[in-house]
Amino acid sequence: MSNASTTPVTIMRQHLIDPEICIRCNTCEETCPVDAISHDSRNYVVDAAKCNYCYDCISPCPTGAIDSWRNMRADLAYPIAEQLLWDTLPAQVALDEGAGVGAGDTAPALPDDVAKIAAAATSGQGGIAPPPWSAAHPYVNLYSIQKPAVATVSGNFRLTAEDASSDIRHIVLDFGNASFPVLEGQTIGILAPGLDAAGRPHHVRLYSVASPRDGERPHYNNLSLTVKRVTADHEGAAVRGVASNFLCDLKKGDQVNVVGPYGTSFLMPNHPGSNLLMICTGTGSAPMRAMTERRRRKSVPTEDGKLMLFFGARTPAELPYFGPLTRLPKDFIDINLAFSRVPDQPRQYVQDLIRARADEVVRLLQDENTYLYLCGLKGMEQGVDAAISEVCGSHGLDWKTLQAALLQQGRYHVETY
Ligand code: NAP
Repeated sequence: MSNASTTPVTIMRQHLIDPEICIRCNTCEETCPVDAISHDSRNYVVDAAKCNYCYDCISPCPTGAIDSWRNMRADLAYPIAEQLLWDTLPAQVALDEGAGVGAGDTAPALPDDVAKIAAAATSGQGGIAPPPWSAAHPYVNLYSIQKPAVATVSGNFRLTAEDASSDIRHIVLDFGNASFPVLEGQTIGILAPGLDAAGRPHHVRLYSVASPRDGERPHYNNLSLTVKRVTADHEGAAVRGVASNFLCDLKKGDQVNVVGPYGTSFLMPNHPGSNLLMICTGTGSAPMRAMTERRRRKSVPTEDGKLMLFFGARTPAELPYFGPLTRLPKDFIDINLAFSRVPDQPRQYVQDLIRARADEVVRLLQDENTYLYLCGLKGMEQGVDAAISEVCGSHGLDWKTLQAALLQQGRYHVETY
């Protein structure tokens, strides 16, 4: 009997990234709170010594490449240098062979919390909330970085006033003869040309589709995006957004490499009587526009349930689609606009309006046909959660319990950055 048979062996569930599916969008690296994820020009990889199984990176990954796991002997975990060379994920090795576990080795159970997280991460949709039961089937990963779709710009219109502080654009991409099916709530990836400071191709930038499934123009093979020219980061420091500036500067006739589509969760219900409770800030309005427009184009929109929108922007001049939105009939959509920087007016956020409309919000939340969507600034998540919790509490409802049920039933969807 070898020494190994008497030495306890620790088995770990190693977190890996599938290089075949990964689109190198950098979302996981940005999300990881412990800097366990890094990349070179070829692959994104996870440092087994740093990964704490917090699971934060799983749901934001558009392709599911992040949701890859292998049971490994801890001392034989794949090192970063090896992962960087992969073109495909290695198969699971049998733990009593390649991983070097002898017949008499003890393989201790995973710690409870790690096992739970790993199970959640690898269950169902890769740990992502299920879509509404009546959502249409989404197509994903049709175009890769190696074989992107080439779209032609058929429109680039400024949505914000010329003197507004932000330049937000409505960009229309035409796919010509290429099939690029999308649903409301899905995202696409843009490949900006050129190289980054390290001489590597820019990573993919994701944008929500702002048009309904039958096209920006009905029955045209096109879609639209809502893009804000990034000139500063969230802290206000000057920074030039690579993809946003590329997109905002495009002219009619220019060509763009597009990958995707992505997204199997943030989708709209399709059954009659389903209500949409939509909460967004700034360009987070893109998927809400797509869903609203889908409902508006249907011949008998009132059969489709209630639409309620909470939408925050600095001023009316900064609110994308302000004109068209305010012209929609009141019996079609209940619109609540919050402005934070109108001179001589108190600052208003979407969460303030949720509190002001408590009765109606709670009535909607209690309806099993209501689907909630939250999209926009990361910072609003906490404030909106507190406001909903408060309005639920004042009506004798426990938000945490309800939220868990909504999540499980595919009725609660969040996309914040
Ligand atoms: P913004 O103009 O910076 O802000 C929009 C509004 O939200 C402002 O009134 C702002 O108020 C307010 N706000 C700030 N902090 C808030 C908080 N904690 N709670 C509630 N409201 C708050 O927004 P933006 O630059 O357009 O950003 C939109 C976000 O959506 C970005 O992070 C973007 O990445 C994301 N997104 C974009 C897309 C897309 O397809 N383009 C899709 C999904 C998500 P003050 O600034 O006056 O305080």
